[in-house]
Amino acid sequence: MSIQLKNISKHFGTFSALQNIDFSFPVGKTTVLIGPSGCGKSTLIRIITGLIKFDEGELFINDEMLSSSNLYSVRRKLGYVIQDGGLFPHLTARANVTLLAEYLDLDKTKIENRVEELCELTKFPKDGLNRFPGELSGGQKQRVSLMRALMLDPEILLLDEPLGALDPLIRYELQTDLKEIFTNLKKTVILVTHDMSEASFFGDIIVLMKTGISYVSIDQARLNLKTE
Ligand code: ADP
Ligand code: MG
Repeated sequence: MSIQLKNISKHFGTFSALQNIDFSFPVGKTTVLIGPSGCGKSTLIRIITGLIKFDEGELFINDEMLSSSNLYSVRRKLGYVIQDGGLFPHLTARANVTLLAEYLDLDKTKIENRVEELCELTKFPKDGLNRFPGELSGGQKQRVSLMRALMLDPEILLLDEPLGALDPLIRYELQTDLKEIFTNLKKTVILVTHDMSEASFFGDIIVLMKTGISYVSIDQARLNLKTE
């Protein structure tokens, strides 16, 4: 499933957060967006998820132009791990993961099987499912966020600084697990980070963003950066 941005601009009042962004995210690969805080990474991700509207340009997902009429169906094909997790604190881990599936009234047995599958995939302990986010470690919370994003088996996975708030050891462990998941699932992944070593660890393609202006795309193969 392809994502294509054509001349996308986004302003907040007089402030220009993104200007004339043109980029095609390669299918089945991991593209990393890297850049300093405030350069528009989260804004770009929110635009792709349809959570915020852009002011100018066009966005195509799978060659379909995003508009208000197909926003809902397109959004269901995207899994989104929000910066800082974004779990609902008053819902258990299980309820956070299954919220949308329950809302869509999917088959209970299928939901349960999917949750079990995701626990294995993300190495989340099943006995943690009945805990609230406040009762989980930082790494576990991120695994729950990932399970939630993967619940409906989306074709595209967007992760906004999924490892940002973690301490180094947990970060390393989750990095390794995430990479294994991306490799196995072969989804189109967009991952945001402000850490260069993380970018080179994950990225098939790395996009450098600069404050509100432009970006440069670096093909890792061409630069011969090692990702392992
Ligand atoms: P990043 O994720 O790269 O740190 P963001 O995309 O969150 O950056 O923000 C880009 C810029 O747009 C920042 O200067 C931020 O303050 C501004 N911004 C983001 N969202 C809003 C908003 N809803 N209203 C006004 N300004 C915003
Ligand atoms: Mg951000």
